Amino acid sequence: MEFETVIGLEIHAQMKTKSKIFCGCATDFGAPPNTQVCPVCLGMPGVLPVLNRKVVENAIRLALATDAHINRENRFARKNYFYPDLPKGYQISQYELPIAEHGRVEIEAGGVRKIIGITRAHMEEDAGKLVHDDREPKSYVDLNRTGTPLLEIVSEPDIRSPEEAVAYLKKIHAIVRYLDISDGNMQEGSFRCDANISLRPAGREEFGTRTELKNMNSFRNVQLALEYEERRQRDILLEGGAVVQETLLWNPDRGCTESMRGKEEAHDYRYFPDPDLVPVHIDEEWIRRIREELPELPDQRRQRFISRYGLSEYDSDLLTSARELADYFEAACAGYANPKKLSNWIGTEMLREFGAEEIGRCPVAPEQLARLLTMMDEGIISGRIAKTIFAEMLASGGDPDDIARERNLVQMSDAGELVRLVREIMAANPEQVRQYREGRTKVMGFFVGQLMKKTRGQANPQLANELFKKELGG
Ligand code: ADP
Ligand code: MG
Ligand code: ZN
Repeated sequence: MEFETVIGLEIHAQMKTKSKIFCGCATDFGAPPNTQVCPVCLGMPGVLPVLNRKVVENAIRLALATDAHINRENRFARKNYFYPDLPKGYQISQYELPIAEHGRVEIEAGGVRKIIGITRAHMEEDAGKLVHDDREPKSYVDLNRTGTPLLEIVSEPDIRSPEEAVAYLKKIHAIVRYLDISDGNMQEGSFRCDANISLRPAGREEFGTRTELKNMNSFRNVQLALEYEERRQRDILLEGGAVVQETLLWNPDRGCTESMRGKEEAHDYRYFPDPDLVPVHIDEEWIRRIREELPELPDQRRQRFISRYGLSEYDSDLLTSARELADYFEAACAGYANPKKLSNWIGTEMLREFGAEEIGRCPVAPEQLARLLTMMDEGIISGRIAKTIFAEMLASGGDPDDIARERNLVQMSDAGELVRLVREIMAANPEQVRQYREGRTKVMGFFVGQLMKKTRGQANPQLANELFKKELGG
């Protein structure tokens, strides 16, 4: 029996604002516990929340970037539940009237492009954090994160495979980072995703029973968790069983999903409009201003890379997957005229060492990479030496010209010196010389190889070929 997989993702992106959503506390990651708190985010009696304007602006940016409808009047609601990391006993979120609805993004998976719908995006506050002590049966509460602004982005159940889920997640990740509204750090939890997944017999319209997966803190884990859960549900259905609707935790060490007990079991949140906050009005003028200031987005940039630099879709996708990487490429392009070659070099040599988003930490400046490739094109260094120099540039941050000079790596293009070596090699290998002269020109490879050995790879290979041909009388 054939099954079709159905997936919908709920993404929580922590916003990169200076202060929290309803108070002036800082949002920096890693501060000592409970040092970034005040009566408002601690939920003391009698305090009133005041909405951070920047949070609304960020949400509008995302709405515009995903072609979503912006609700000119939207409101906050209280989501009630008890948990020790939630001092107020409710989370301020949005419910019936979120700021954005009916958005869409285009993804590519397995060579196919498709649209994934975004049901809604809304603003809400984050909860605090429990810190468990492994040595003692104790837990601590850190409320620094309480009140940090989040953007929750809920997809339609349009996703049909784990690959598509990861492609969608990466697209939203790229968008929030291009927009500069979230740092997107999955390890630190500033970009989190819950995945809902179900299976249905192929051809059936009605959805099957879904499970919700949590605790996946990397793209890789999202992929693995969904693949595991897809298999698990298929096995149950094939045996004639029924999938139980529940929340499961991905266990990356054991490589499986596990049933979870706790706050997520209680599902009646008794939502109601928050009486402490007035509805949010968004006027046309504000939207227009934000639209004007939007940066170029991943899809647009990808298209431009294809048309302007003549790159393939694959290369353009790769280079525009992170804004830093695209910026790096364009800065290097300014000093180097062959975008295709530059893109190949970045795609292999560079991304082997650094992730697309870590390019900012790379000690090789774009101009230096441009210079290195130019030296290669001009025959000053060989392709092999270029890689050696590049490794050195990565380690020391040095200039390619300096490294080539100091380490004596400049290619030997001095014909006089090379002719002397060519003759030496011929004298030492009379058998190969005879073979060559009898027409077995393949031994040319042997001769050039010998010369490379003698010059420790520095002979200009083209020149070496020419000199041997001349001396051998070929
Ligand atoms: P909840 O109220 O439990 O959060 P939602 O209706 O908000 O449920 O849906 C949460 C996510 O689950 C959405 O991304 C949605 O697309 C997805 N989803 C809903 N039904 C299914 C299903 N049967 N299979 C897979 N995903 C689903
Ligand atoms: Mg939901
Ligand atoms: Zn506060």
